[in-house]
Amino acid sequence: MPEYTDQSYFEAGQLVAVLTTQPLDRLLDYKAPAGGCFLGAYVEVPLGPRKVIGVIWGAGQGGYDPKKVRSVIGVIDVPPMREEMQKFLARVGDYTLTPLSAMLRLATRAPGLTDPPGMRKIYGLGDKEPDRMTPAREKVIGVLEDHGGVRFTAGELSTLAGVTSSVVKGLMKQGVLVEYETPRDLPYPHLDAHHAGKELTGDQARVSALLRDKVGSKTYGTSLLKGVTGSGKTEVYLEAVAECLAQGRQALVLLPEIALTVEFLDRVEQRFGARPAEWHSGVTVTERRRCWRMVGEGKAQLVVGARSSLYLPFQNLGLIVVDEEHDQSYKQEDGVLYNARDMAVLRASICGASVVLASATPSLESWANARAGKYERFDLAQRFGAAELPEMKAIDLRKEELPSGRWISDSLAREVFSRLERKEQSLLFLNRRGYAPVTVCRACGHQIGCDDCDARMVEHRFQGRLMCHQCGETKPMPEACPSCQVEGKLAAVGPGVERLAEEAVERFPDARIAVLSSDMSMTARNLKERIKSIAEGEADIIIGTQLVAKGHNFPLLTCVGVIDADLGLQGSDLRAAERTFQLIRQVAGRAGRADKKGTAYIQTLQPEHPVIQAILTGDEEEFWAAEAAQREQAGVPPFGRMAGIVLSGPDLAQVFDVAQYMVRNAEPLRRINAEIFGPAPAPIARVRGRHRVRILVKADKGTVLQPALAAWHASIKPPNNLRISIDIDPQTF
Ligand code: ADP
Ligand code: ZN
Repeated sequence: MPEYTDQSYFEAGQLVAVLTTQPLDRLLDYKAPAGGCFLGAYVEVPLGPRKVIGVIWGAGQGGYDPKKVRSVIGVIDVPPMREEMQKFLARVGDYTLTPLSAMLRLATRAPGLTDPPGMRKIYGLGDKEPDRMTPAREKVIGVLEDHGGVRFTAGELSTLAGVTSSVVKGLMKQGVLVEYETPRDLPYPHLDAHHAGKELTGDQARVSALLRDKVGSKTYGTSLLKGVTGSGKTEVYLEAVAECLAQGRQALVLLPEIALTVEFLDRVEQRFGARPAEWHSGVTVTERRRCWRMVGEGKAQLVVGARSSLYLPFQNLGLIVVDEEHDQSYKQEDGVLYNARDMAVLRASICGASVVLASATPSLESWANARAGKYERFDLAQRFGAAELPEMKAIDLRKEELPSGRWISDSLAREVFSRLERKEQSLLFLNRRGYAPVTVCRACGHQIGCDDCDARMVEHRFQGRLMCHQCGETKPMPEACPSCQVEGKLAAVGPGVERLAEEAVERFPDARIAVLSSDMSMTARNLKERIKSIAEGEADIIIGTQLVAKGHNFPLLTCVGVIDADLGLQGSDLRAAERTFQLIRQVAGRAGRADKKGTAYIQTLQPEHPVIQAILTGDEEEFWAAEAAQREQAGVPPFGRMAGIVLSGPDLAQVFDVAQYMVRNAEPLRRINAEIFGPAPAPIARVRGRHRVRILVKADKGTVLQPALAAWHASIKPPNNLRISIDIDPQTF
């Protein structure tokens, strides 16, 4: 038995309360197994005729006939869950109104938690070279080298490398790939906290010293690291990581997008001499299992991951960094609805860790928390080295009307031409995937929509298909209008990146054009190669969606054209201004990162709009203050409490009926003086055939909404086919 002196211990036969991953909403009593067990131990228990996984959550409650209480089958050979994790799961569950069993499912997403060791054959590099190197073989070897000693199953290797299984088999036969015993105890390479980093500038050194102090204090505290793009935020927070590692504590860095991890792993390797553990959906089962176990045994020093890595069983967590903390993808929009940024702060406050929230354009929430003194704020105002911030210029599309079917104004085109002459790069940004957002029939006016969603089908011409961006459904582009059956009359309306690329090919015939869009279904490795080759100058014009807004450095890029700055400003969403501001500033920040000065050109129909003005002038503090004042006046987050209750079901009338019934019978909410709005169609009114209706609940900042929401929810007995989901702090309101 390992020693866990701070854990309680239950003798064999003693009553224990077990939380299982089954949707039961209560703890179950069992007898501790022969040999006893620790609080937090992962166990197998009988449930009816089945065996299920659970965690020893505390002492048994008793009150049952002791003869009927069954025994725990066995303890799983992983370190027990720590009390701080129990607390974290309970708090997130309370906050998001998620049953504890569902929270446990999040925390035990370790694949094969109960597999005996050595069940699956795994392969790594042996000491033989292949008799002949082929591109396919090189890919397989590249995958293994990229993952620094990790081993994979044959299937994983052929998937990751994108080669047939015969390539992998061939390498095995030659002894280039050899079989290994078990992946379980293969440790990660050691990260050396004292490995020499880059020499920091005065400003960077000042801020990183302050962050190191915070980490050194070994108490909870959140810092907002606000630095313009290219100021070296990553370099600076890696110093905080170094401090944490030097203390022998574990660190976690959250990134908003898997596509960013590969580049980030390289930087960690530069800084600490080795690559860290990775945890996200792009990582194989073998590797996830190893990560979960190594984190739990305290052997993974640093994890780079997606939001779900907050539920990894850290033994000794000292620091969480949330990079690009404003990024919307931190908000889970499926299953358990939580914002990973907020949950990182909660996680850290429970275990006495530091948090660093890094961004060039912080969320209004974090900005306001810093202003209120809850977070400490550190600014990096200058770009590193000779790089200057880009100049921002508006192109007024009212003065320069675009002919139909064109989206690049002549002014912008002139700028692109001048970059082509100087052998510099231009980026044309349009946040719309596909060829055209709308396909309309010129005979009858019908617009092709998704059969199951309240959304239009978007043409993806490279693939020759229509795609629904809500549910992912695709169908071939039809010859005839599905409504009037007339052939040859379907027309694309509006631009997507593919169509923009078409225009660019026509107008800049001698330029090399690259399209970067998140639907290109590239693996992280391919994407990295693509980005690298672009950064090295293998394209003159880059056309991209928001994928290009984040974190990539293109040293030759000096011109950014924002094709439609007004795109995000329509609609009544109170967060629209904030989002548009963040996105366009981020994209503009891609320009002029090396010794060449950059300019961003903003095509807009409303140059005097406050958001566009703030983007042009860069008066961020003023902009945020104005935004904050507006939200404060409206009493919405972060100055008030809010929840969205979404009811969904196949029958719209029924969904509406239940929603109206809920509003009429909202006693628990009336008691706390919450305001109720709706029901109204949800922002996306139909998805996958289910109609969605939303009720918004609003209350003062000082009110705790959850217990009232829970009581209200519990008092409603909805029909079977109707689902109710509660979203605390909804993204749109
Ligand atoms: P940010 O995260 O603020 O956008 P980065 O940390 O990515 O900035 O830094 C931008 C670029 O400048 C990177 O290529 C980084 O390696 C480089 N850089 C930043 N600070 C330094 C430094 N002190 N010494 C050398 N290179 C630096
Ligand atoms: Zn759909």
